Amino acid sequence: MMTIYSDPCPVCGGEEFSESSVLWPELINSWQLSEGEVLYINRQQGFHCRQCGNNLRAMGLSAAILQEVGFQGTLNKFCESSSAIKILEINTAGNLTPFFRKLPSHLLIEYPQFDMQYLDIASESVDLVVHSDTLEHVPNPERGLSECRRVLRRNGKCIFTVPIIVDRLTRSRAGLAPSYHGQSGVPADDQVVYTEFGADVWKTTLKAGFRSCEIFSLEYPSALTIIASK
Ligand SMILES: [Zn+2]
Repeated sequence: MMTIYSDPCPVCGGEEFSESSVLWPELINSWQLSEGEVLYINRQQGFHCRQCGNNLRAMGLSAAILQEVGFQGTLNKFCESSSAIKILEINTAGNLTPFFRKLPSHLLIEYPQFDMQYLDIASESVDLVVHSDTLEHVPNPERGLSECRRVLRRNGKCIFTVPIIVDRLTRSRAGLAPSYHGQSGVPADDQVVYTEFGADVWKTTLKAGFRSCEIFSLEYPSALTIIASK
């Protein structure tokens, strides 16, 4: 069964949405997606708020963050609240960066200056690590997550999204033809996919050392967010 999200945008409170199709034939083939999977991945990436431009994936990520920080209201309002929370954003997460930037202690780092597998950041120095659809592009995702864990303070959280195909298990693309996310016909090295995540995404999270892995659902199966606790 699918659920349908019908509340205002958790990022900005907008109430008007548009939907566009984002997958293209080569990606659908290399990912071996069924018709139903194409529908929910298109919704995850293409359904978006007309006011802030964030898609369902970024909305789910925002709703999970708001739950974890215990804030009633939009992400925009939270970021304007002068919270002292220290957020580390690894690669721009959807169109959320302009909101996170309002927080006094926000830090954005990006590939290739920063590699998630070897973060040049002090241990136990941040409260929250956020990334969105980045982990599938990291050659060793377990190593990447264990670095996220290392920089977190005790009880800190790593809240992230990856595209999850819920009816299969995770597979490495090693030995398969290269598959790229991003745009059709524009294969960029940083868009190459190393791992296709499935229902056992929690394993990678726990193997990286987190003590728990919660799956937050804004809409099932199109907007799932992982909340990993140190
Ligand atoms: Zn919005």
